[in-house]
Amino acid sequence: MTFVAQPFEAIVGATNVLTDAQHRRLYSQDVFNGDDGPIVDAVIRPADTAEVSAVVKVAAAQGLAIAPRGGGVSYTKGYVPDRAGTVLIDLARLNRIHEIAADDLYITVGAGCTWQQAAESLKGSGLRAVMKGPISGTHATVGGVAAQNSASDNMAAILALEAVTADGRVIRTGSSAIGAKAGPFYRYYGPDLTGLLLGDTGTFAIKTALTLALEPEPRGAAFASIGFETLSAMSDIMVAIARSGIKCKTLGMDPVKNRTATKVGVKEGLGTLAKVITAARSVTEGLKQAAKIAVAGQNVLADIPWSLHVTVEGHDQPAADHALAALRPIWTHRGREIEPSVPIAMRARPYSIRGIVGIAGERWVPVHGVFPLSKAQRVVSATEDYFTRHKARLDRHKIDHSFLTMVLGNMWLIEPMFYWFDELSALHATVLGDKFAKFKDIPANPAARAVVKELRGELAALFKELGAVHSQLGKFYDFAGNISPDTYAVLTSIKDALDPERRLNPGNLGWG
Ligand SMILES: Cc1cc2nc3c(=O)[nH]c(=O)nc-3n(C[C@H](O)[C@H](O)[C@H](O)COP(=O)(O)OP(=O)(O)OC[C@H]3O[C@@H](n4cnc5c(N)ncnc54)[C@H](O)[C@@H]3O)c2cc1C
Repeated sequence: MTFVAQPFEAIVGATNVLTDAQHRRLYSQDVFNGDDGPIVDAVIRPADTAEVSAVVKVAAAQGLAIAPRGGGVSYTKGYVPDRAGTVLIDLARLNRIHEIAADDLYITVGAGCTWQQAAESLKGSGLRAVMKGPISGTHATVGGVAAQNSASDNMAAILALEAVTADGRVIRTGSSAIGAKAGPFYRYYGPDLTGLLLGDTGTFAIKTALTLALEPEPRGAAFASIGFETLSAMSDIMVAIARSGIKCKTLGMDPVKNRTATKVGVKEGLGTLAKVITAARSVTEGLKQAAKIAVAGQNVLADIPWSLHVTVEGHDQPAADHALAALRPIWTHRGREIEPSVPIAMRARPYSIRGIVGIAGERWVPVHGVFPLSKAQRVVSATEDYFTRHKARLDRHKIDHSFLTMVLGNMWLIEPMFYWFDELSALHATVLGDKFAKFKDIPANPAARAVVKELRGELAALFKELGAVHSQLGKFYDFAGNISPDTYAVLTSIKDALDPERRLNPGNLGWG
C-alpha cells in the first residue's frame, strides 16, 4: 500500500497528480470535516471515463483506497478519508455536456458537470432538467448529487448512468446498457441498476456520466409567501398543501432565516433582483410583474416569525394562477400573506454558494431528517424541545441555529442548521473566492466546534429515534444501525460483489 505517482502521471499527466501538502489537505476537507485526521496521499484529476478506469486499476494495483469527489460541498465525510493510503479522484474535469437530445427529452452530462453548467447548456432550448439540483449547484456536481441522493429533488428523473467499478470496469444502466442503437432514454429495463447505484455515496461505483430527463420550461409561475407565528402552524399548512395534490414547491423559513434573507436582500440581493428582471424580459409579462413585487417587498420578512414560500408552475400563466388560487384557502385563515419576494428571487437565481457560511462569516453546518407527512407535528415539538434543552449551552458558546423545512410529494423535511464564529477552512477560502477576504481573520473556536459536533450528532440520533431517513449518508448518518440486519446483509453482499476489497470510500454506509 504505497502510493507511487509515476503510473498515475502516465495516465492523466503530471500536472493532474497533486501531491503537495496543501492540496492534499484541501481535498481531504468537506464543509464541516477533515480539518484534522488523515489526508489523502494524492489528488488525481482524470479527464474522461477511460482515464478514471485506468486510474482505478492503478490504485487497486498499489493497494490504495479511493475517494471520488465532485464539487466537494457536502458535509457528511463522504469523501473525507478515514485512513492513510487513500487517493482522491477529482471528477471536476469530467464536465462535458455529452448530448442534448431535445427530441427525446434527455441530456447526458459528465459526472463533474455542475448543476449550473447543465442548466446553462439548456438555455434558449425551451427545455430544462426535471431535476433542479441543490442550491449549491454553482459547485455541486450532477455526479455528487446522484451519489448522495437528494430529498429535495426527483431522483427518478435520472434515466441512466455510466459508472466505473472498483476493478476498473465501465458499466452502463437502463436502456444505455444496450448501446448506441437504444441510447439512455429509459431507466427501468430489468432490475433498476441506476437506482442501485444512486445514494451509495460513492461506495458501489464511480459515476462518470449521467442522463437526466428534460421537460419543457413552463411558461407560467405564480408565487405566494405566508407568515406564521409558530413552526407548528406553518408545518400544518405545509402538510395540507402536500395532501392537496396540487404540484408546487414549498420552503419554510424560521425567524433567523427571515432576518438573514432581509439583510441579504438589502446588501447582496440586488444582483438577484436584477437577474429576476432580466429573466422576466425573456420570459413572460407575469414574471416581470413578479419582479416588481419582489423589489417592492424585499423588507417584508424582517418582522415575520416563520415564513412559507410557495411556487406553482403552469403550462401558461392562467394555469399557474388558477392552481395557486386553488391552494390559497389552505392558508387564508391561518397565516398572513406577504409579498412573495423570496420565491421570486430564488427562481431567478436558483444556485448560490454564499450560504456555505453565515451572513457575517460564521461557520455553518446542517443536519436533516426526512419524515412522512403525519409525523411533522411530533418532529416539530421534539426538535423545538431539543433546542430549548440545550439553549444555555448554545448561548454560552454563542452558537446560533436556524431551520429550513420543505415538503416534496409525501415527505416532510426539516433541516436544522448551526452557526458559530470559528476559523474558516481552506475549502471555504477556495469556494468563497474574493468573498473570503473579509472573513479570513475569524479566530479558531475549537470549543464551540466540539459542541456543534456533539449536538449535531445527538440531533441525528433523535431523528433516527423518530423514524427519519436521510440523503447524504456518508460517514455521518447511521445507515447500518438504522435498517434491518437482513436488508443490510443483502446490501453488503452487493458491496462485496462490486468492491470486494472495499476500496471505494471505506467507512461510508458502515463498510470499513
Ligand atoms: C451552500 C450550500 C447549499 C446546499 N444546498 C443543498 C440543497 O439545496 N439540497 C441538497 O440536497 N444539498 C445541498 N447542499 C449539500 C451539497 O450540495 C450536496 O451534498 C451535493 O450533493 C454535493 O455535491 P458535490 O458534487 O459537491 O459532491 P461531493 O461533496 O464532492 O461528494 C459527495 C459524496 O458523493 C460522492 N461522489 C461525488 N461525486 C461522485 C461520483 N461522480 N461518483 C461516485 N461518488 C461520487 C463523494 O465520494 C461523497 O461521498 C448544500 C451545500 C451547500 C454548501
